[in-house]
Amino acid sequence: MDHSTGLIHHPYRPPDGFESMVEPVHKASTVLFPNVQAMRERQWNDRSGYTYGTHGTPSTFTLEARIATLEGAQHALLVPSGLAAITLVDMALLRSGDEVLVPDNAYEPNSTFAKVELAAWGIRSSHYNPMDPEDLRRRITPATRLVWMEAAGSVTLEFPDVPALCEVVRSCQQGRERPVITALDHTWGSGVAYGPFDWGVDVAVHALTKYPSGAADLLMGSVSTRDSALFETLQMAQGRLGLCVAANDVEAVLRSLPTVHMRYHQADASTRALAVWMQQQPQVQQVFHPALPESPGHDAWKRNATAAACLFGVLFKPQFTSEQIDTFCESLKFFGLGYSWAGPQSLALPYNVHRLRDLGWPHPGTYVRFAIGLEHVEDLKSDLKQGLQRLA
Ligand SMILES: *Cc1c(COP(=O)(O)O)cnc(C)c1O
Repeated sequence: MDHSTGLIHHPYRPPDGFESMVEPVHKASTVLFPNVQAMRERQWNDRSGYTYGTHGTPSTFTLEARIATLEGAQHALLVPSGLAAITLVDMALLRSGDEVLVPDNAYEPNSTFAKVELAAWGIRSSHYNPMDPEDLRRRITPATRLVWMEAAGSVTLEFPDVPALCEVVRSCQQGRERPVITALDHTWGSGVAYGPFDWGVDVAVHALTKYPSGAADLLMGSVSTRDSALFETLQMAQGRLGLCVAANDVEAVLRSLPTVHMRYHQADASTRALAVWMQQQPQVQQVFHPALPESPGHDAWKRNATAAACLFGVLFKPQFTSEQIDTFCESLKFFGLGYSWAGPQSLALPYNVHRLRDLGWPHPGTYVRFAIGLEHVEDLKSDLKQGLQRLA
C-alpha cells in the first residue's frame, strides 16, 4: 500500500475512556455501508441511520435535537439560512392555486419570495395587518393554505397577539379538505422570550444566524414542529431540495447554544435601558420596542412573552432630513452599519419603512433600527449622545 493510500485508510478508534462533554464534529458526504444489503435497506427519510451527508450526520442530528429542546418542538431540521427555512416551508406546503398570507411587517425577503417565485408557480400571496385579527379573518379565502406570522415584526417591531391570530385560523378550518397551516418566524424570540408552540402555531422557523450563533460568523436556519406528519412533509422537501448545512457551522452553533439565554437577557437589559433613554431625547418622535407601553402590541407582548430581543427602532422628528439621519448613523463609533443582529457588536440601520409596507406606514420622519450588542451600555449611551448632539 502506498503511503498516499495509507493516509486515507488510516486505522482510527476513538480513545477508550475519553468521555469529553464535547460532541465530536462529524463530517461526511459519503457514508460507507458494511455491505450491499445494508445499503439497500437503509432509508434516508426515516432518520434511523445515516446514508449520505445531505441527509444528516451525527452532528446535524445533535443540533436538531437541541433546537427542538430550545423551542419545545418534537422535531427540527436544519437549512443553510433563516431565509432558506422560510422558503422551505413555502415550497413544502404550497401548490399551484394555493394562497399564502404574509403579515405586512414580515421579514422582507419572505414577502419578496412570495411575490416573485411563488407567484411564478401560480401561488397567490397577500398581506394582512398582524395587529388586527379581524383583518386576518377577512383575508382568509378557500384557497388559503398557509398563514405566516412573525413576533415581533421585522424592523418596526410591532408585537402581534399570536394566540388570537391562531384562533382566527382555527375558526376557519371547518369543512376544509386541507387545513390552513400557521407558521411563525420566531427569530426575535429565539426560544427564550416565548415558546412558539405554546401559542398554538403548527410550524416555527428560526434564523440560527442570530442568537443561537451569536457571533455574526455563520448563516443557518431551522424549521421545527410538534406534528409528525407535517415534519415528514417538510423533511422530504428538504431532502429533495438538497438543503443541508456544514458540520463546522453546526459545531459553532453547538458551542454557542448553552449561553443563548445569558446573551439574550444581557442584550435585553442594555436594549431596554437605551430604548427608555432614547425616548426622552428631544430629537426623537417615538421609540418602537415591545416593552415600552407606547409601542404597538405592548399588551400582547406583556401577556405572551417574558423577555425582549436586542432591537429597538427610533422614529426621528420629521424636521430632520433623511440625509441628516444618515450622517447621524455614520457618526456613531460603536454602531456598525450592516444587516442582521444578535452578534457581539451593535448596529444602526436607517430604513425607508414606507417602501417596506404594502398596507402603508402612517409616520413621517426617518426611522433607524438599532441592534444592541454586548458592549457596555454606558459606552453605547455616550456614543448615541454625541451623535444626537451633532444632530441638534
Ligand atoms: C435574519 C432573519 C431572517 C433570515 O435569516 P438569514 O439567516 O439571515 O437568512 C429571517 N427572519 C427574521 C425575523 C430575521 O431576523
